[in-house]
Amino acid sequence: MNAPVPPRDQVDAQCPACRLHALVPMLLRRIEHDRWAQVEPEEDTGDDEVVQIDACPVCNGAWFDAGELDLLAGEATDLEHALDPTSHPSKRGCPRGCSVMREHDLPGVIRTPVDHCHTCKGIWLDGHERHKLAKSTTREGQQDVKQRMARRGAIWAAQLLVQLPVEVENPVHTTPWVVISIVTALLSCFALQLLGIVDLGNCAPGLGDLPSGAMFGDLADGATFADLCFAPVAGSLKHQWGRLGFGAIGEGSWYTLTTHWLLHGGWAHLLGNCYFLYIFGDNVETLFGRRRFVLFFLGAALIGGFAEVLLTQNTVSPIIGASGGIAGVMAAYLWCFPRNKLFQVVLFVQLKLPVWVYLFVWVGFQAVMGLFETSDAGVAWFSHLFGFAFGAAVTPLILRMRRREIAKTVRTPALAL
Ligand SMILES: [Zn+2]
Ligand SMILES: [Zn+2]
Repeated sequence: MNAPVPPRDQVDAQCPACRLHALVPMLLRRIEHDRWAQVEPEEDTGDDEVVQIDACPVCNGAWFDAGELDLLAGEATDLEHALDPTSHPSKRGCPRGCSVMREHDLPGVIRTPVDHCHTCKGIWLDGHERHKLAKSTTREGQQDVKQRMARRGAIWAAQLLVQLPVEVENPVHTTPWVVISIVTALLSCFALQLLGIVDLGNCAPGLGDLPSGAMFGDLADGATFADLCFAPVAGSLKHQWGRLGFGAIGEGSWYTLTTHWLLHGGWAHLLGNCYFLYIFGDNVETLFGRRRFVLFFLGAALIGGFAEVLLTQNTVSPIIGASGGIAGVMAAYLWCFPRNKLFQVVLFVQLKLPVWVYLFVWVGFQAVMGLFETSDAGVAWFSHLFGFAFGAAVTPLILRMRRREIAKTVRTPALAL
């Protein structure tokens, strides 16, 4: 008895769960009796051994048309009929555009309700439910045949969802050009530092004395590029507040507020920042779009530097590093992928770590860098804090824009609830 293969028509819909992406078709081919593997669209031979489901690359939720879940779970499994008959209204609309779905329990298998469309009989499984599914499959003592079968389906579903090859860490396969450009800029500026073309020593102030370091206006007086200071020193900027303004280029070093994030105190600081920027930045860039991501990163970096100058007015060492911008990117990442785990290879063992662990590692890393890299500077905690706050405040606005955009590009927008 073979279940009929559903027609392979595309679901052109916004993800009903996170609404941040359109559903992407995913083809699965039977490789053994009840084992399935993902195949590329080119490999689709159009035969009955290939099933197409539709998944969200951001939240990893997946849509199963009627019959697909049972077909994938195995012939004897009647997972779709194992749904508890009682239901509650769901907040999500059917990706096929029928109407609002209903939430059903899947007794003995999973505690969180599963969304089910009563019109087209399709089922939506959330990405995070895969963890619960995986856990529930290890529970013992399920006697009821229906439940056992449902459990078998859940084992399959858990396996499938765990190996969802739409990478957790990299939702869309685009090149993160902005992240690459920023990393290149950071490396280039560090090279300029090593060559002595950019010299942090120029920024060392005589506290209370003006000017500290050379200013743009001084170039005319025979100073060279190498004499310029590119990092603000809070203690000396303090005395320039009165002269801030566009006419003051020759008098103040306020422009250092826009250049300081390009400079670093040492190799470890630089490479650490590049690493974290790449880990988190590529996904955020993909999700935000390039232009928005550039503005977002610069905003976090500048707000962070500005806050540091305002709040630590008596420090005498220059404020440097891209950490404020990276803190903003991390806040964005936490907003966008709160349940995400990142793969991390530690001593040849691949670990899967939650995002917040990374956050702690990063904070710890900054603290260590502050202790060892620069003798008197320490960590620019305020720049981290305000960069992070900027990211946390601005990301929801950007995500709202993104959701509206996706809703316009698909045939079936998700319900805006
Ligand atoms: Zn989603
Ligand atoms: Zn439907």
